[in-house]
Amino acid sequence: MANDCLFCKIISGDIPSTEVYSDDDIYAFRDINPAAPTHILVIPKKHLTDVKSAQAEDEALMGKLLLRANDIAQAEGLAEDGFRYIINTGKHGGQTVFHLHLHILGGRALGWPPG
Ligand code: AMP
Ligand code: ZN
Repeated sequence: MANDCLFCKIISGDIPSTEVYSDDDIYAFRDINPAAPTHILVIPKKHLTDVKSAQAEDEALMGKLLLRANDIAQAEGLAEDGFRYIINTGKHGGQTVFHLHLHILGGRALGWPPG
């Protein structure tokens, strides 16, 4: 739990969210400003500022983040038509919340490349 971290407050329940999945290590919830018909954020409960902050001790956690995202994409009915995972990182990556999060976007065809 990091002080003044929005997503740590969502994990603790101090700030409400629409839960999609939760276990000991991972929490997933609906993005408040969806960019696609399905837009879910998957986060580690451990506070990591961004993906490049992950260390060797986080190897299993990083794997779990991706595998739980796969489960969620499947459960949300995105597997057949496809979807996109995004981890925005830092200034050029467009990161606005500094607690590692993986976006799952799906439900429509997505443009490429990003602007
Ligand atoms: P990023 O730009 O990758 O840091 O993404 C941050 C995401 O968090 C954005 O898509 C926001 O819409 C989303 N977001 C911000 N506040 C909340 C909140 N209280 N509940 C759910 N999603 C949020
Ligand atoms: Zn945090």
